[in-house]
Amino acid sequence: MVAKRTSLVTGAGQGIGFAIARALGVAGDRVILLDLDQNKIDAAAESLRAEGIDALGAVADTTNRGQIQAVMDAEERIDTVVTAAGVYWDRKLADLTEDDFRKMMEVNLIGTFIAAQEGIARMTTGGRVVTISSRGALGGTRFAHYVASKAAVVGLTRAFAMELRGTGITVNSVAPGFTDTPMTRSAPEEMFEAWSKLEPAGRAADPSEIASAVVWLASPEAAFVTGQTLFVDGGKSLGGLGI
Ligand code: NAP
Repeated sequence: MVAKRTSLVTGAGQGIGFAIARALGVAGDRVILLDLDQNKIDAAAESLRAEGIDALGAVADTTNRGQIQAVMDAEERIDTVVTAAGVYWDRKLADLTEDDFRKMMEVNLIGTFIAAQEGIARMTTGGRVVTISSRGALGGTRFAHYVASKAAVVGLTRAFAMELRGTGITVNSVAPGFTDTPMTRSAPEEMFEAWSKLEPAGRAADPSEIASAVVWLASPEAAFVTGQTLFVDGGKSLGGLGI
């Protein structure tokens, strides 16, 4: 019998991270859902257990190495780490401060680095890291600090993948486009609708559409793919002329 894989997903209390944890669980993995808030993560894990998924909720801040180590040390094995924990806020160029950059980098880059590095230290051949970057890595207006942090995640993904070439451990990134989650729903309704209309399909992605790409990159079938960033954004990142 093939041993059950254990997948840890950060930022799994809601949104994209939760959808990824669910999809990995449906695929047969034991899933560790990690987030900041006890009540939120307990409810998320419980809802997956109610679907028959082997799910455990864990509270940890991805920027705190000791907390991440404690969660991983409690597991017999770590096969996949998905780094969905991330933060976002607007700030136009003229108003940006060093503090905006430091706070954004702390979670989106350093938190990703810690969770990925600690996971890799526990992995053997077949191990998988999937970082969650963003279409925003290509650029955007009014959030240079977010763009920089997500472009850095793409760079980290490539660098880790290069260092692990030939080990059987892969490191890839999924770059979502505009996705319907609590993060984007925190904007006023009319803004959410306006952003949706800017998408090629006239709508936001459903988190499950991001999760299915992650499940594939985490699967044995993706063993020969590493260092790549897969844009899951309905084609908007293609740019170009025309509608
Ligand atoms: P979300 O709804 O805000 O969910 C993110 C979760 O991560 C929240 O539960 C949040 O907790 C948690 N979190 C934040 N900082 C953390 C930390 N240091 N340690 C542990 N957990 C932490 O966001 P989402 O829209 O699902 O986005 C998930 C990822 O996809 C993010 O990296 C985001 O940048 C990326 N992304 C999203 C979109 C989009 O359109 N939604 C597009 C491209 C990329 P709190 O709520 O307590 O902060």
